[in-house]
Amino acid sequence: MKSSNIVFFLVFLFGVFSVQLVRAQSDSHCGAEDVFLLESQKDESLSSKRYQYETKISNDALQLLNAENAGTSKIIPVVVHVIHEYGPENISKAQILDQIRILNEDFRRTNADTVNTPSAFLPVAADCNIEFKLATIDPNGNCTDGIVRVYSPLTNSSIADGAMVKALSRWPNDKYLNYWVVRTITGGILGYATFPGGNDNVDGIVCGHNYTGSIGTAFFGAYNLGRTATHEVGHWLSLRHIWGDSNCGDDLVADTPTAAGSNFGCLTYPHVSCNNGPNGDMFMNYMDYSDDVCFNIFTSGQSARMNATLNDPTSGRNNLWTQANLIATGTDGTSPGACNLIADISNIEQMICSGDSISFIDMTWNGDVDTWSWSFPGGTPASSSAQNPIIYYNTPGIYNVSLTVTNAAGSDSISRQNLVVVRNSPAQFTVPYTEDFDAAIIGSVPTDYLVSNVAGLNTWQVTDIASVSGSNSIFINNLNNNVDGEDELITATFDLSNVSGTMMSFDLAYATRSSSSTDRFKVFASNDCGKTWGLRYTKSGAALSTAGIVTSTFVPVAGDWRQELVNLSTSSVSGRDHVMFKFQFLNNGGNNIFIDNINLFTGVSVNELNGSIANFNLVPNPANGFTTIELDLKKGEKIKIDVLDLSGRLVEPVIEKKLDSGSHYIPIISKLSNGVYFVTLQTQNFSSAKKLIIIN
Ligand SMILES: [Zn+2]
Repeated sequence: MKSSNIVFFLVFLFGVFSVQLVRAQSDSHCGAEDVFLLESQKDESLSSKRYQYETKISNDALQLLNAENAGTSKIIPVVVHVIHEYGPENISKAQILDQIRILNEDFRRTNADTVNTPSAFLPVAADCNIEFKLATIDPNGNCTDGIVRVYSPLTNSSIADGAMVKALSRWPNDKYLNYWVVRTITGGILGYATFPGGNDNVDGIVCGHNYTGSIGTAFFGAYNLGRTATHEVGHWLSLRHIWGDSNCGDDLVADTPTAAGSNFGCLTYPHVSCNNGPNGDMFMNYMDYSDDVCFNIFTSGQSARMNATLNDPTSGRNNLWTQANLIATGTDGTSPGACNLIADISNIEQMICSGDSISFIDMTWNGDVDTWSWSFPGGTPASSSAQNPIIYYNTPGIYNVSLTVTNAAGSDSISRQNLVVVRNSPAQFTVPYTEDFDAAIIGSVPTDYLVSNVAGLNTWQVTDIASVSGSNSIFINNLNNNVDGEDELITATFDLSNVSGTMMSFDLAYATRSSSSTDRFKVFASNDCGKTWGLRYTKSGAALSTAGIVTSTFVPVAGDWRQELVNLSTSSVSGRDHVMFKFQFLNNGGNNIFIDNINLFTGVSVNELNGSIANFNLVPNPANGFTTIELDLKKGEKIKIDVLDLSGRLVEPVIEKKLDSGSHYIPIISKLSNGVYFVTLQTQNFSSAKKLIIIN
C-alpha cells in the first residue's frame, strides 16, 4: 500500500538496514537488496538518490495510472552474457530464447497460468506492455545473435564479486538490458538485479543457469519456469519486493496488498497477514518468493511504475525502447542475416586409455554453422566433417585438436593444445610401488606423471627444499597462487589385477594461512585412464593442516609431516589392470603443500612404524571371531583404531582416546564374521593398517 513519503522514508531506511536480517530469517532467494546494500557501501549517496528517484517514479507512475494509459508497447533490447567453464552452465541458445519467451508472456500477461489469478485480484491484473528481444547488432555495429559466451571460473561467485563477473562482458546499459547467466551464486541465491540509479558498470540482472528458461538445464525443483528473470527484471524496472522488505512494509505500489513478509512454496488462497483480509497476500505476484508455478500476475500499479521507469532518463532506461535504439541494436524487426561465427571447443582436458574413444562437442556460437572441419592429429579418423564426431586414439601420447566452422558470413577456427591425453593400457607399474621423487628432475614431475594446471600459475613440481627421506618431495608453491585455482598431479598407471586389499599411503605437509581457510586436498582413483574419477580421500582447512597456521612461506621440517592412508579396496579400482590416481589441490588462499613417498601396498604400510609407535600388532591373526590389538606407545598420544571391511566401510570403531605411554592390549569386542578386514591406526602424525583374517 502507498504510505506518506515520511513513513516511506523511515520504512525505506529500516528496509535497507534490515535486509540481512530478513535474509537470515528466510531462505536466500533474490539478492537485489543485498546488491543495493553492497553498492551503497561503496557510494554513500546512493541511499538518498534512491529515495529521491523512487519518490519521482511513484509520482510519475500515479499520473500514468490516472491517465489509464501505460503507453504503447515498449521493446527492450537484451544481451545475454553466458559466463561458463564449458559445463552445463554454458546453456543453449534454445534455452535462452525460451527465457525471452517467458519474459514476454509474463510482461504482456499472455502466460497460460493467468487463469490461476484469484478473481479478487483480476481487476488489477495488468498487461505491462513491455517486450524483450535479443539484440542482433552489437555495440560496435556488428552482427550478433544477442548472446556472448565467456570462459571464466567466476561463473561460481558471490554477489560481492558481481562487479568482476560483469566486467568480463558488458554492453552499454542505455542500449541493452544486460543479463548474465552463471553456474552458481554463493548462498543458494537464484538471481539478483540492480535498481535504476546505480553504477552503470553493474547495471542489469544475474541468474543461475538452472533458473534461466524452462528447458535444458532449468529443471531445478520449484524454480524451473524462468520466473526468476521475470522477478529480477521487475527490480531492474524499480519494483520492490511485494512485502516492502520489512514486516508489513511498503512496496510503493498502491494496488498490491500489504504483506508481512516473503512467501515460499505454493500457498492456498487466501493467505491473510497484516490485516489484509479477506483477500490476503498477493503471493502469486512475481515480486514475491513463491514457486515459479504459482506466479501469474503483475498489477496495474506495478506496470505503471515500470513504465514510468522506462520514461525516466535515470540509468538511460528511457533510451532503451526508442526507435533509434531499436534500429541501432537490430531489434526493430529487420532481418540481420548470418553473423560471423565464433568457433569454440571445451578446454577441459580429455583423458582416456589407448584404444578408447572421445565424443567431441562443437560449441560454436554467434550463428548457425553450415560446415565443420575437425582435425585430430593422432586420432582415428584424423579429420571429420561431422558436428560432434567420435574419435579413437590408439597410441599413448598428448594430442591437439582444432576446428574450423563456416557459414555464409565466413569461417572461424580454434585450436586446443594438449587437449587429449592417452595413457597406457595395460599399466606401467605393479604393487608394491614407491615414488619418493628422489630420482625426478627438480622443477619437473616424475616420468609418466602429468600435471593438469587449470589455474595457470605455480603448480606441482619436484623440489629439494623439503623431504621426509632422501632429498626430494613434490610441492605447490601456493603462497601467491590465484584463489579458487585448481592443480592436479596425475600418476602413472598401475596393475592391481593380481593383488587384493590395496592401500595407498603418502606423506603430507601443509599449513593454512588463517583459521577460516577452506583449501581442499583430494585424491581420486580411475580405472579408465582418467575418463572418470572416483573420490577416495578429501580433507580441508584445519583437518588438512599438518603444521597449524603459518602466514609466511611454509617449508616443512621433520615434525610437520603426517602420513595419510587411503583405502583403495573398492569395486571401482580394486583388481583392475590399469589404475591411476589424481592428487588435486583447490586453493582458497592457503600456504604451500608438499607430498612425499607415495606408496601402494597390500595391507601393511611400508613405513609401518614411526617414532612414537614401538609396536602395532594383531594377536592372533588369522583369528577365530575375536582378536586383540597390541600397541606400544613411547609417549602418551591420542589414537584412533577402526575395523574396516575390504570396501573401506566402517565395521567397528574400536577406540578413540588419549592413551598413556607403555603397552596396551585392546580387544575387538564384537565377533567378526568370516572374511578379510583392515584394522586402521591413526595418530596425530601417523596412520597405518593391518590386514586381519577371520576364520570362524
Ligand atoms: Zn527480489
